[in-house]
Amino acid sequence: MSAHTSTRSLVDELTARVSGTVLAPEAPGSAGEPAGFQLGLRHRPDVVVGALSADDVRAAVRVAAAGDLPLTVHHTGHGTRLPAAGGILLATARMDSIAIDPAARTARVGAGAVWGAVTTAADRFDLMAPSGSFPGVGAIGYTFGGGLGLTGRADGWAVDHVRAFEVVDGEGDLHEVTADTDPGRFARLRGTGPLPGEVVTAMTIGLLPAGPLTGGALVHDLGPVGEPGDAAPLHAFREWTADLPDAVTSGLSVVTYPDWDVLPPHLRGRRVARIAMTVRAGSAETDRLLAPLRAATCAGEDTVGPLRPVDSSRVYAEPDAPHAYTGENLLLGDLVPAGLDAVAALGGPMTVIGIRHLGGALARPAAVPDTVSGRDAAYLVGALSPLDAERAITDPAAAVAEADPSRALRAFGPAATGANPGFGFGPRPV
Ligand SMILES: Cc1cc2nc3c(=O)[nH]c(=O)nc-3n(C[C@H](O)[C@H](O)[C@H](O)COP(=O)(O)OP(=O)(O)OC[C@H]3O[C@@H](n4cnc5c(N)ncnc54)[C@H](O)[C@@H]3O)c2cc1C
Repeated sequence: MSAHTSTRSLVDELTARVSGTVLAPEAPGSAGEPAGFQLGLRHRPDVVVGALSADDVRAAVRVAAAGDLPLTVHHTGHGTRLPAAGGILLATARMDSIAIDPAARTARVGAGAVWGAVTTAADRFDLMAPSGSFPGVGAIGYTFGGGLGLTGRADGWAVDHVRAFEVVDGEGDLHEVTADTDPGRFARLRGTGPLPGEVVTAMTIGLLPAGPLTGGALVHDLGPVGEPGDAAPLHAFREWTADLPDAVTSGLSVVTYPDWDVLPPHLRGRRVARIAMTVRAGSAETDRLLAPLRAATCAGEDTVGPLRPVDSSRVYAEPDAPHAYTGENLLLGDLVPAGLDAVAALGGPMTVIGIRHLGGALARPAAVPDTVSGRDAAYLVGALSPLDAERAITDPAAAVAEADPSRALRAFGPAATGANPGFGFGPRPV
């Protein structure tokens, strides 16, 4: 804190220059400000700025640069990997503007917009955003990793639809970054993401037609954890996705549920597989495409049917309560059968394995250069384990080693071609 002798003087300077909130973390009223979806990391900044505008961001960046202070950006916390240690925590949630241009089929979204709100706004014009599986994720943060959307195999990565980013650089200057104004930065932001201290304050992104759209999931009970599981639905998914039209975007998840009495009886101690899909077609064509998979497996639950984008959270059915978790991923050239057998037999701490089918429009060359990891991959496999929040904060290395989600990925290793930064979560393995 070289230019500031105390947190008080830092708070005072920021308060004079920022129209949003400025709080020392222990101040009354600051409760919850730095908290987010990821509870396994705790930000410990000197001060929290709740920015209202790009001007607030510029002021905070300039104060950080002048004082040689770290500046950490915080939105929903879904993708946080490193907690702030001192300096300024810049919270963007209040910058949640969304402006839809129905004629241009674009949305201009602020740094605090989440996909669920953009989807709701676009729905009024029969349009949808190239959003992902969970509506609570930040629209801009999701896009940095490429943005693997609900209809990705039909419509491409989210970055394929980005027209412009509004960016505050490390000196506090504002830029409209497009393929024409700054092609290098435009390519880096679309895949690798921002540099430390660089803040994206808004994004203009193309919207997609809301229909036709069908979606849902086939759910299979693979048997009790602790016994060799039924791998047949996993192999059926591999065979089904080997030859699918681009209209179908799908993913397979397998959850090993512990025998916890808070869980519904049908999940306690069970290994459950969910084949989730979104299809750019009506119900009749979807039924035709799904017939081989339905015939090969006997799903306990089948929810595939007409889908409105605003109801898309029912496709992947991810938990919406904040929790502590750690996770890694691999991009794969092929879905090796030995990896599926290992997933079906997985024991140990609770783990969620998620396999996304890539290819189709996700494999097409970008119209303008980008830095997305995964255009040449056939699948992405991720493994995620819940953590005890306090243990993760006090001893992250031990917590991650005990959960060890990567054990579910080892058998896929021979087919790995890399990883996607957007699907890495929480404290990292040492
Ligand atoms: C349940 C769940 C489902 C998901 N589904 C998908 C999916 O379907 N497809 C997909 O591609 N990804 C998916 N993701 C991954 C998600 O897109 C990433 O975790 C993403 O980083 C979340 O961004 P955020 O802004 O919400 O989170 P945050 O943790 O707030 O931010 C993530 C990172 O981006 C930085 N950041 C955020 N906003 C800005 C900004 N305006 N300027 C500069 N830096 C910023 C933060 O500092 C942090 O380092 C999912 C994640 C979860 C937890």
